[in-house]
Amino acid sequence: MRMPKMSRILATLAAAALTALGAVAVDQAPASAAIRNVCYNTSQAGPFAGYANQAATIWNNATKNINMAQCGSNLMIYYTYGGGSYAVRNSLGNGYVVIDYYQAQQYSPLRIMTHEIGHILGLADNYNGNCAILMSGGSAGTGCTNPYPSAGEAAAVDSYFSFAARGATTTEVFADSWPAAATVGALR
Ligand SMILES: [Zn+2]
Repeated sequence: MRMPKMSRILATLAAAALTALGAVAVDQAPASAAIRNVCYNTSQAGPFAGYANQAATIWNNATKNINMAQCGSNLMIYYTYGGGSYAVRNSLGNGYVVIDYYQAQQYSPLRIMTHEIGHILGLADNYNGNCAILMSGGSAGTGCTNPYPSAGEAAAVDSYFSFAARGATTTEVFADSWPAAATVGALR
């Protein structure tokens, strides 16, 4: 009866190994939940790629729980001619941004970029006309070039990303952030 006994020993060793692997997996979970990468892609951003990089640096400096980097395509940056700049958020940290080239000649392109990325990071519009508020968008006028989120806006983003469970897949479209001059025509 040597073989059955050896089998029991091996089974016991295997169970111990699986238990050890399970323990390792549990230990890693909390560490990965604190900071979340938001991987943006500027391959389709044309002349706005540099602004996307600047906006990523602004958001990285303003927040604790996200790290924006060119590590994938969770966030695509596009540009177009006319129609208005807008953001489409598929889930927290995932979606795409479209920058209107014409609009970016009227409003600060960096403020537009940082604002639209703000939507991807969970923020909604706040058309209060206050240039100190990034999500006030075009309501602050063409003279407002502030590209920085307020402390409250940055704290809100940190709170969204502190909850690992957030990020339900409900697509939201954020348009009409940048009411431009009448010559531009219909804006979305
Ligand atoms: Zn907006």
